Amino acid sequence: MKRDAVNRMNNYSSIYIHIPFCHNICSYCDFCKMFYNEELVDKYLDSLEDEISNYEIPDNIKTIYIGGGTPSSLNNNQLERLFSITDNINLSNNYEFTFEINPEDINEELLIILKNHRVNRISIGIETINSKFYKLLNRSNDITSLKNKIDLCKKYFTNINIDLMYAFPNETIEDLEKDLEFFISLDIPHMSIYSLIIEENTVLYNNKTKNISEEIDSEMYYFIINYLKERNYIHYEISNFCKEGYQSIHNSTYWNNDKYLGIGLGASGYIDNFRYSNTRSINKYLDGNYILDKEYITKNSSMEYEMILGLRKIEGVNKKSFFDKYHIQLEDKFDIMEMVNNKFLVNKGDYIYIPEDKLYISNSILVNFIGEDDE
Ligand code: SF4
Repeated sequence: MKRDAVNRMNNYSSIYIHIPFCHNICSYCDFCKMFYNEELVDKYLDSLEDEISNYEIPDNIKTIYIGGGTPSSLNNNQLERLFSITDNINLSNNYEFTFEINPEDINEELLIILKNHRVNRISIGIETINSKFYKLLNRSNDITSLKNKIDLCKKYFTNINIDLMYAFPNETIEDLEKDLEFFISLDIPHMSIYSLIIEENTVLYNNKTKNISEEIDSEMYYFIINYLKERNYIHYEISNFCKEGYQSIHNSTYWNNDKYLGIGLGASGYIDNFRYSNTRSINKYLDGNYILDKEYITKNSSMEYEMILGLRKIEGVNKKSFFDKYHIQLEDKFDIMEMVNNKFLVNKGDYIYIPEDKLYISNSILVNFIGEDDE
């Protein structure tokens, strides 16, 4: 495809805003985060405002996602300041505006602020209700108050996600089932479910905590898929499940390899044929040195991203859309024959996808799409 054809796709309609502050630091967390400090947050909001003013925000933005960190750790004045930034953004009719909340921050006042500023989807980081793992994770939940808080959330929002984590050391399938049961009893329309990965530079890593075996991890993964499917959840992305009509539009931006603006400490974005990452240094960020890395996205690397991100979707990559976007047949660009013959990929109808029994090893399939020679 000619360069000008790529440029025509520059416009983005999704915005991610990162709030890196938390009242408590979880032992497994390797996100870009730090302890909440009122003065620091005020300065951070100044920089956030300055950073976003560098960009021309198009009209008809489809999705905004405020994540963290813990965006709900901000006090009400700070939330009002944060929303004064997003209030100016022109949103499309069917927009999705997500705000991440930690359970301990849920109260009616917060929910009203969110509602008043056009938030229409909330994502609650619960992770587990099993007290056996609270110490390990350095976080906790009080089930009774959690139920009341979720009911309160439902009074204001119908589109709710809950984050669930599994594969804790010594966790059993019965433990996992109890967590799932609880989430299902709350009738939550969307769940993001990730296994615990012990990353470097986390308390768990420093404490030499061991991952559970791949065998149990995989057993748990397929248990979750079957358990939720039997209860009418659609498995639509490797780690995401929802009731009909509740797919995350914002996250689909990433999996569809679409452009988006990323703002805030450690945020990443994809605009003007560049993928960029912001600095994770708060001092540099407050000094106005926002972007750390920029990668020019050639047509070739865009096609690789299209596969690596798109195959995370259970439906897979649409071959016709691929051709419309890149003017080359997917099968002519990537040699997928061997992966199809070995049943790591399915080539059926308009789609190429990873079959369910191979989803657990999806990373080893996706790497096959990296490293083609660039143009
Ligand atoms: S997991 Fe969430 S709440 Fe916990 S430290 Fe990380 S960003 Fe903060």
